[in-house]
Amino acid sequence: MKKKINLRLLGIAFIAMVITMACMTGIYYQVFVRQVHQDLKTDANILKSTVTFSRDDMTGLSVDIESLRITWIDENGTVLFDSIADEESMENHLDRPEISAALKKGEGKSIRNSDTMNMNTFYYALRLEDGTVLRLATEARSPFNLIISILPTMLVVLVVVVVLCIILADILTRQLIRPIETIADHLEEIREEEVDKELVPFLNTIRAQHENILLAAKSRQDFTANVSHELKTPLTAISGYAELIENHMVGPEQETHFAQEIQKNSTRLLSLINDIINLSELDGEEAVSYEILDLYELAKGSMEALSVNAQKNGVHLHFSGKPVTLRCNRNMMCELLDNLCQNGIRYNHPGGDVWVEVSTNEKGAYLMVKDNGIGIPKEHQERIFERFYRVDKSRSRETGGTGLGLAIVKHIVALHDGTISLQSEDGQGTTIHVQF
Ligand code: ADP
Repeated sequence: MKKKINLRLLGIAFIAMVITMACMTGIYYQVFVRQVHQDLKTDANILKSTVTFSRDDMTGLSVDIESLRITWIDENGTVLFDSIADEESMENHLDRPEISAALKKGEGKSIRNSDTMNMNTFYYALRLEDGTVLRLATEARSPFNLIISILPTMLVVLVVVVVLCIILADILTRQLIRPIETIADHLEEIREEEVDKELVPFLNTIRAQHENILLAAKSRQDFTANVSHELKTPLTAISGYAELIENHMVGPEQETHFAQEIQKNSTRLLSLINDIINLSELDGEEAVSYEILDLYELAKGSMEALSVNAQKNGVHLHFSGKPVTLRCNRNMMCELLDNLCQNGIRYNHPGGDVWVEVSTNEKGAYLMVKDNGIGIPKEHQERIFERFYRVDKSRSRETGGTGLGLAIVKHIVALHDGTISLQSEDGQGTTIHVQF
């Protein structure tokens, strides 16, 4: 980043330098041109007032002024006198811009290229009282010559400025970057007053993100520890029972009981692994496919699948509502319905009830699962949606719970842009309302 800022600053300085130098050269040349013409005008006026212009005697015109060419032309363009060339051989000058301008307006100027690229010829023509024209010419630098002559100086200045810019850009970049580096190094302890006011929003955003990352890392760590612990318990039991059978320490009368224990723990292990896979899929980046489905039909299917389980637990299922179409993911919605209805059956008393209702209200489709089971004490209600959080661990395990059901439900609801709310009274029952 430092390198990028440095290079950009350097680039800007370089462009600014080149533009400035080009403009300066242009302006300087303009001033130079004006000055040369001004000098020619002064010389012409001096000549006009000091020399007698007579066609019979041209000696007065043969003044030897260094690098100055004097030409005298009559009103028809015929050259009467020229200080350098033989006037006889000179062509008519009427078409020369400075001559025609002088004949019309009293004076005229022009610049023409010399034979060499380096020099230009500057002309100044002045109309005299008798109508003839006095023209002075001198050779002076062309813009090309000017550029060539100032190029070495320009290059030296350019190098000095570029070196200065490198140093300044480096200092500037350091000054710009330093507060950001300080924030990065002391993100946790730095106070808002200690950073530049412009960086406060940046500090807050970075800090919030940092905290989120730490939280996510912590919850992942906790989750891994919990998963390991949860997997270890049934596996230790299975391995223990198998070892007893292997060492013939189980009598024939206990064999069935041990086989049942192994099966129970294996089932628990499977449910746990299934829930973990479910959760990791929900956490993943993979795009979820949605389709328009009837939530009422889905819930009816879930209830039918759970009826045997409900009967086994002596719990009555009641289903009501009306067909409701919803854009959702079929598997996720079945998982959500299963988890909520299972909980209603699982945390209930024999003879208890579970009511499931699917319908619409002013906000849209909703699902309500209500039971008159054991309820959830107030202090646990906030936390039961956390992974592996259980009010009564042994009851959850005994009934085949994994502690992940509601975490999965919450995730699914969020993916469907819904909200979930819970009402529960210890010993009275629980109502869960999902609004889509
Ligand atoms: P589990 O697999 O243990 O049921 P959940 O995430 O589904 O895990 O639920 C977390 C805990 O919330 C459960 O262990 C239980 O203590 C409590 N809970 C969930 N639903 C109910 C309910 N309908 N009635 C009473 N307690 C419930």
